[in-house]
Amino acid sequence: MRTQLSIDKVRGPFVTNVEEISGQDLLDCNQCGKCSAGCPIVGVMDILPSQVIRMAQLGMEEVLESNTVWICASCLTCVTRCPKGVDLPRLMEALRQISLREGVSKLDLDALPPDLVKAVPQLAIVGGFRKYIK
Ligand code: SF4
Ligand code: SF4
Repeated sequence: MRTQLSIDKVRGPFVTNVEEISGQDLLDCNQCGKCSAGCPIVGVMDILPSQVIRMAQLGMEEVLESNTVWICASCLTCVTRCPKGVDLPRLMEALRQISLREGVSKLDLDALPPDLVKAVPQLAIVGGFRKYIK
């Protein structure tokens, strides 16, 4: 993925917005990779959790296109492993919220098989894309 980096992006409104919504200081992350190494579902993500925060640090709005942001199960494993106290699930939630506010969602409820919708608890479906929203 090629992108043009600039100080305007790194200190820009996207980073400010992500930090405000998530309550995280993105520069706390030192890219140690412990979050990615311990994530139980990293195998189905298109980029690593540590890459999500790196892209967010750099103001790369392309991170919103990643399926990782939506696949993250908010299991908190990465939170327990992070030596810098970064709450990655809250970052993922902030990125989902930014997408949803722009009318973009990776989860199309109408596309789910009816049998699945009947069988899965409604809370699980809602929680699948709005994990921290009450
Ligand atoms: S474990 Fe924490 S400091 Fe390490 S890469 Fe992940 S978020 Fe960054
Ligand atoms: S909270 Fe998300 S990113 Fe962190 S370990 Fe769990 S699934 Fe992976």
